[in-house]
Amino acid sequence: MEAKEYQDLNITPRILLGPGPSMVAPRVLNALSYPLVGHLDPQFLTLMQEVQQLLRFVFQTENELTVPVSGTGSAGMEAALCNFIEPGDNVLVAVLGYFGERMVEMAGRYGAQVDRIDRPWGEAFDPDEIKAALSQKKYKLLALVHAETSTGILQHGIAEIATAAHDNGALVVMDTVTSLGGMPVEIDAWGVDVAFSGTQKSMSAPPGLAPLTISPRAREVLRNRSVPVGNWYLDLSLLENYWGSERTYHHTAPINANYALREALRMVAEEGLEERFARHRTNAEALWAGLEDLDISLFVPEENRLTTLTTAVIPPGVDDLGLRKTLLNDYNLEIAGGFGPLVGQIWRIGLMGYSSRLENVMLLLATLGEVLKKR
Ligand SMILES: *Cc1c(COP(=O)(O)O)cnc(C)c1O
Repeated sequence: MEAKEYQDLNITPRILLGPGPSMVAPRVLNALSYPLVGHLDPQFLTLMQEVQQLLRFVFQTENELTVPVSGTGSAGMEAALCNFIEPGDNVLVAVLGYFGERMVEMAGRYGAQVDRIDRPWGEAFDPDEIKAALSQKKYKLLALVHAETSTGILQHGIAEIATAAHDNGALVVMDTVTSLGGMPVEIDAWGVDVAFSGTQKSMSAPPGLAPLTISPRAREVLRNRSVPVGNWYLDLSLLENYWGSERTYHHTAPINANYALREALRMVAEEGLEERFARHRTNAEALWAGLEDLDISLFVPEENRLTTLTTAVIPPGVDDLGLRKTLLNDYNLEIAGGFGPLVGQIWRIGLMGYSSRLENVMLLLATLGEVLKKR
């Protein structure tokens, strides 16, 4: 095709009920199209302060160094690790699924001596198991995933685990990509030192920014590094000069993505955190009940379930890919399959942020019922 023959962009809207991205409210999409200003424009500097303030609110923290990192959730993960790891450091990763694996991989690339403890995919740790591992050796940091999107598992006992990590002298790094904005995340009350998230899951802004918060204890570790951070773009000792009072250029902030994030966070604040968590729970419970009515069993026992992401066991004899293709092509409905050891075994159904609405639950249940009946 000749370059000039390309048609106007024509994207069919979908109902996004996968593990992210979630749907974005019209007012957030509108914010994306506000006029571009420079990254040092006083209007943008004011907006940066507001975004930081709102992020502290959702993270439930007083941490001064709370910023949206340029990049998706994985950039947040990378920033959370590379700034605190020096070659040879002992790092412990508690792995309960795919995103824990990713942290093992990243920590290794920054030269850490990585020890890992594992739970089979679909189970959470008893905090005592993590405490026992921490009693074996001195660690620079402990990394873990709060809400594991590959399995639908919530890790409980974060405060208890953080206390044990601090007794060891280790920082706690926590992935809150799927929990933040949809389920309780209490950074200061739980004693988490470094937490990161992504904008496109329960906060329902477009993908492209990664909220990150750093405790004073972790900042001290950053200041006392003996070698520079192994990643220039994500080096917080440089970035804090742009986000702090100096406002020196490091890289051009994704201006419009920050407009959208501000609007999405404003929606979180308007709704209220408790009300938002309750909405996610109510809609998840409606989904769980409806799936069970369809004889589809849930992969995770109720006490460890996420309300933002439900994993359901694919009924025997159902063609996973075929069904998901039908949902997408004929009904504009997106859900996801499992990966790693769970390929072909589970569906992952997200009810995150703006996607978490009763009409979406009912639409999915009715459609699933219809499609399964026709087989
Ligand atoms: C989605 C996700 C990530 C990665 O985020 P991206 O925005 O895809 O880079 C990391 N951790 C968890 C738990 C996730 O669900």
